[in-house]
Amino acid sequence: MVAVINLREIQQAKIEEKWKQVGYKAVDEMVKNLKEKIGEKEDFQAISEIVKKEGQKVSKAIMQEVINEQGAKERAREKYVCQECGKMLTKQPQMRSRIVESLNGEIEIERPYFYCKSCQKGYQPYDEEMKIAPQKKQYDLQRAAAELFSEVPYKRASQIFERLTGIKITDHCMQEIASEMGQAADNIRVLPSQTKVEEIIEQATNGRVWKPVLVVAADGAHLPTRPQASSRSEKRGKGEWKEAKGFRIYLVCQDRIEQIMSWHKIANEEEFGQALSFASTLIPMEKVRIALLGDGAKWLWTHLKRAFPTGTEILDYYHCSEHIHKMAKLLFTEQNEQAFFIESTMAKLNFGEVESVVASLQRIKASTLEIEDEIRKLISYLKSNSHRIDYQSFKHSQFPRGSGAIESANKFICHVRMKRSGAWWYQINGNKMLLLRCAFSNDTFDQLFTRYKLINK
Ligand SMILES: [Zn+2]
Repeated sequence: MVAVINLREIQQAKIEEKWKQVGYKAVDEMVKNLKEKIGEKEDFQAISEIVKKEGQKVSKAIMQEVINEQGAKERAREKYVCQECGKMLTKQPQMRSRIVESLNGEIEIERPYFYCKSCQKGYQPYDEEMKIAPQKKQYDLQRAAAELFSEVPYKRASQIFERLTGIKITDHCMQEIASEMGQAADNIRVLPSQTKVEEIIEQATNGRVWKPVLVVAADGAHLPTRPQASSRSEKRGKGEWKEAKGFRIYLVCQDRIEQIMSWHKIANEEEFGQALSFASTLIPMEKVRIALLGDGAKWLWTHLKRAFPTGTEILDYYHCSEHIHKMAKLLFTEQNEQAFFIESTMAKLNFGEVESVVASLQRIKASTLEIEDEIRKLISYLKSNSHRIDYQSFKHSQFPRGSGAIESANKFICHVRMKRSGAWWYQINGNKMLLLRCAFSNDTFDQLFTRYKLINK
């Protein structure tokens, strides 16, 4: 027994020695280069950047050795069973070599190749074992790039990436990675798990009997899209604004809100409804009090009620107040008259006195047809939302009356990345980006990335 352990230890020591030797050699080289490159006038920043760049060569040299060692078993493989016909294959006489790129620079991988003549299929089991990406840029690079391109335009992401890592990934390449990654994202996978949701609620409740308020807010945001050209020569189609529908679920705690999940997509009502229904299955309904928050859009209430039948419906206060402001401007030219109208109307609405507001609106003698039309629209808006306007009683139940000063999540997820001057998205790519952004926001990107590595062939 003792002898066996010693043998392993000796082997381990041999490997370590090899890594050290490679490292020492690279360090010698690095020091030589530093002497040449660092002039007398170099300041702190310049020196740091040069050392960083030269240091990368050391990590690259060691990485190469570590990779050789780590994959040694697969590299020594002689036989492989064809996955199609089950025949035993013998490795081809020549090893196959390939250069891949990692955060540690370019690395050469050399591994055996198996070919089944009957199935006309080639295999490199080493690649499978080591999870080598088919693209030259390996997953460590892709993962890091995703953090950037899901926040800023591809071109800018490419610039920042090179500046920070010294490695170039073109904006075109970033776009391709995003598109491939987006394949792994679907409506449901970007949402957090039930366990995760329960954990967040558990933590917020913190052992108290008190049930926290869980807000389900739905909204639409308009995004610039363009139709896909059917051929390269064909002119780009005209841009079109399309509605991304989305929801955000969060907990209202005493002094803050606790994000639970976000979902956004350029989708039809049905797809929105399905995603919302699925989200509702992740919520432990008995542990929270549910508030449904939205603007006046009908589609949104239909699906909110269907997914959360016990939820209290609340018309977003700010949305409601916008309508009243608009009406004030139509009715009055004087600012103090406008202010009085807004204040008194909102005060009534605050107490849920919708009928009284409607009655005063009906008494107004409109001076133009346009105003008459706007009054009619506002009355209809107030009537159809009357049960969602009782802000005073919502307040008693500690329900919020709006998404507050916080920018609506829909706009945050959508606009920040999607609405940039000159950016018109193909719907399919736009949706992939939205889902990637949701995954980052929901902290589910790692699961998505694991799936991406499985399906990326
Ligand atoms: Zn075969």
